[in-house]
Amino acid sequence: MRRGRRPKWMINVAEERVNILFNRAQEELNLNRDRSNRYVQMALDISKKYNLKIDTTWNRRYCKNCHKFLQPGVNCQVRLKNSRVEIKCQECGKIRRIPYTREKKVKRRRKIEFHTIKKGHNE
Ligand SMILES: [Zn+2]
Repeated sequence: MRRGRRPKWMINVAEERVNILFNRAQEELNLNRDRSNRYVQMALDISKKYNLKIDTTWNRRYCKNCHKFLQPGVNCQVRLKNSRVEIKCQECGKIRRIPYTREKKVKRRRKIEFHTIKKGHNE
């Protein structure tokens, strides 16, 4: 197949397939762990082929090291530490740290906005 940019409809179809595969992976997790992991692998293959970004919903639900589907309380541990989310994959032991400063910033901005709006209202 030709390399380079793909038509928009093709990317949309690919995105949909990635979403379906992650949903299936979640469904299969308690039924068939191997199949679940295969779905994740397929989804990642598609995303790589079409240069897709994994949706934020699923971005934290798989291990970037062993490519297995992660379910908090089943095969991964989620902890909050020093403004970071630590996701430990219990399949391979890899710890992934995601800073959540962006969420903090949004929260702070919202707080400021809230106060200025309130202030403006009183005047
Ligand atoms: Zn892992």
